[in-house]
Amino acid sequence: MDYRKELTTSRINRRELFIRSFSFTRRNNFFVILFFIFIFSFFSCARDESSRIELALGTVCSVTLYENGKDIVFDKIFSRINEIENLMSVNINSSDISRINGNAGLTPVQVHEDTYKVIKRALYFAEISNGAFDPAVGPLVALWGISGDNPSVPSHEKIIETLPLVNWRNVIMDNQEQSVFLTRTGMALDLGAIAKGFAADETAKIIKNEGIARAKIDLGGNIIMLGEKKDKSPWRVGIQNPGGSRGSIIGILRIPEKTVVTSGVYERYFEENGAHYHHLFSPSLGYPVQNGLLSVTIITGVSTDADALSTAVFVLGYEKGISLLESFPEAQAVFVFEDNSVSVTGGIDFMLTDKLFYIK
Ligand code: AMP
Ligand code: MG
Repeated sequence: MDYRKELTTSRINRRELFIRSFSFTRRNNFFVILFFIFIFSFFSCARDESSRIELALGTVCSVTLYENGKDIVFDKIFSRINEIENLMSVNINSSDISRINGNAGLTPVQVHEDTYKVIKRALYFAEISNGAFDPAVGPLVALWGISGDNPSVPSHEKIIETLPLVNWRNVIMDNQEQSVFLTRTGMALDLGAIAKGFAADETAKIIKNEGIARAKIDLGGNIIMLGEKKDKSPWRVGIQNPGGSRGSIIGILRIPEKTVVTSGVYERYFEENGAHYHHLFSPSLGYPVQNGLLSVTIITGVSTDADALSTAVFVLGYEKGISLLESFPEAQAVFVFEDNSVSVTGGIDFMLTDKLFYIK
């Protein structure tokens, strides 16, 4: 049974009954009908667009459905997001990732097909970025405590000791067994740079399967704009001002159905002795990357890839990042630098709105 059709029909029937139960005089007939049309369309509009916001994947996840927003759809979406978190979070002891990490140097661990797929994709990006993107970055993230409440700058010796543990080549995948093995004790996977993208893609799948044509998915800055606006004008997505308060933007992207994902120094950081330490690490040096960039935004079709690419390109820096992007002709990018300059790749519809920044 098509539940939506049933619902619409029964609403109309009820409305008709309601109208029929009044007997109109010819004179006020017109105005009364107009009144009912107004009330009906007002409530239809209110029902049309609805949002749900929940904390998941260590961030604020919000989904807006611009039509047919029903609780049952939101329930489905958020239980899928929670399922992904339960599989891939390093902070959940029973997750696939924690089990893989707990068995580092000991034994391969069989995992859910979603986890397997995301790790496989992560290793692909590790390979093509020459290790700038490294899902085995876990020991560095833990050493700096960047995801916890008490981050601090570790000693240089500790960093040097940790570096050999950060190496994606020591992540062994077995397609037959669907298992993952970290060859050295102390190694640890961290899918923080790609899992939100995957969750956003899965959310988009659910929404499309429900036949919903227009939606916005925002999983902690991993954005997907689905379908097109009613008036066919492009979606507008702001680029966060890396030094500004949350929600303050430096400019606006105008895009069709696309995903927009940003990696930036402002997402997670701490300050010590006046210096700013952020969460995007150089796997070869062991320190937060310092290359003049404040943020990299990737605009493309698949959010998993955009998520991995935004981190990879940030860590690679502008020149190497641009050459990596050449292998992804569909992908576009916005770079924001420490000197307030902004660089955009060709074909992008980006309008700078903050006069303190300039396009170079
Ligand atoms: P994102 O915001 O998508 O760029 O992801 C940042 C998160 O990815 C960090 O909080 C770390 O958990 C993890 N991470 C940091 N540096 C790297 C790196 N070089 N490669 C892969 N993941 C990283
Ligand atoms: Mg990322």
